[in-house]
Amino acid sequence: MTLHVVIIGAGSTGAAVAHDLTLRGYRVTVVERGEVACETTGRNHGLLHSGARYVLNDPPAARECAEDNALMRKLMPDILELNGGLFVALNEEDLSYKEAFLEACAQAGVPAEEIPIKEALRLEPNLNPRILAAVKVQDGVFDPFHFTLAFLATAKHHGAAVHTYTEVVDLVWNGRSVSGVKVRDRRDGREYAIGADLVVNAAGPWAGRIGAMAHVHIAVLPVAGTMVAVGRRWVRRVINRLCPPCDGGIIVPQRRNSVVGTTSWPVENPDYIAIPPEQVEAMLAAGEEFIPGFRSAPLRGISAAARPLLHESSQLVTADPGARGVTRGFSCFNHARDGAPGLFSIIGGKTTTSRLMAEVMGDVINEATGITNPCRTREVPLLPYHAFYV
Ligand SMILES: Cc1cc2nc3c(=O)[nH]c(=O)nc-3n(C[C@H](O)[C@H](O)[C@H](O)COP(=O)(O)OP(=O)(O)OC[C@H]3O[C@@H](n4cnc5c(N)ncnc54)[C@H](O)[C@@H]3O)c2cc1C
Repeated sequence: MTLHVVIIGAGSTGAAVAHDLTLRGYRVTVVERGEVACETTGRNHGLLHSGARYVLNDPPAARECAEDNALMRKLMPDILELNGGLFVALNEEDLSYKEAFLEACAQAGVPAEEIPIKEALRLEPNLNPRILAAVKVQDGVFDPFHFTLAFLATAKHHGAAVHTYTEVVDLVWNGRSVSGVKVRDRRDGREYAIGADLVVNAAGPWAGRIGAMAHVHIAVLPVAGTMVAVGRRWVRRVINRLCPPCDGGIIVPQRRNSVVGTTSWPVENPDYIAIPPEQVEAMLAAGEEFIPGFRSAPLRGISAAARPLLHESSQLVTADPGARGVTRGFSCFNHARDGAPGLFSIIGGKTTTSRLMAEVMGDVINEATGITNPCRTREVPLLPYHAFYV
């Protein structure tokens, strides 16, 4: 008997889970209230993390990024721009991290190589000539929409159905078990139920709202970040500041633009994120520190989205107002233990690690269903993103 799984959310997380579960033989339906990748995923930096960003403060997340960075290069080569990255020290304080950073990279299995400053400036002629050190890492760049569509295209090829503009407004119950979702078609307002054997909550920063439908607390903390794009490709590769994660510490070249980001602050409501104007100014100033003249390029866009961080407390963090200390790792939950059998949640992580997150979710679901088909996403290459539209 084929089990039917409804996945709520078509960001990178839900899309990767759909891919994983279809390969394990489940029948999958994805329901998304907007377009594919229309929320956090579609407004992220598009950085395929080497893992180096997290080696100093979150080594498990660094290791996860490094492992899946290497895998995704093989699985979706068409989607990725494998241009690499540099960590550069802009002042003495940055420089003081260098030895610990290189040591932490080695321990976390993150490839990193210090290069002479002259070589860094040859590779990136627009970089601030006053940098004090440069370390090469294996960052890459992706288009978040293509990244997500590639997972969904492959899932569709294996039988998944994807319903966009379909919002989950409630859960359906069979006795004490979750047995589907009640949805509203946002185009015509029609409401109907979709029955399922299992429901996966991959609603990102909205995961808490889905949990509330089952009176289950979800360990998610929405933490917003602002990014600013200017209309010139100032750098060829990703440029990171050689320091623990900080505001404005990364510039990503995206097509003909350069995107500087990001900030970090917890928000109550991920649907309405007011971008503080001083953050825009701070991002442009950070860009200027990396690249003199950065802000002379025309402003192309300002955006913000909320990371669905894994955190036990839904309260705003007071001791760590930027929530920089909250892990970028992830966890998968079977809510049978919370009195909602049939409901599962997947929280946290990064787009870079969405395949790995989905593998763990698939294992948790297999454990619950007794199905033993193993994960195959490490081997099966993804279809091109445009196969989604076929
Ligand atoms: C500013 C910023 C920059 C980032 N940069 C990077 C980066 O460079 N590299 C990287 O790897 N990661 C990055 N991240 C992290 C990454 O973007 C997130 O971890 C990831 O996108 C989360 O994906 P998700 O699918 O869980 O959430 P989302 O993308 O938000 O997807 C959840 C989906 O659920 C849908 N949904 C919600 N409620 C319902 C409902 N009731 N019914 C139906 N659908 C519903 C939403 O519409 C949404 O599309 C960044 C995050 C931020 C905020």
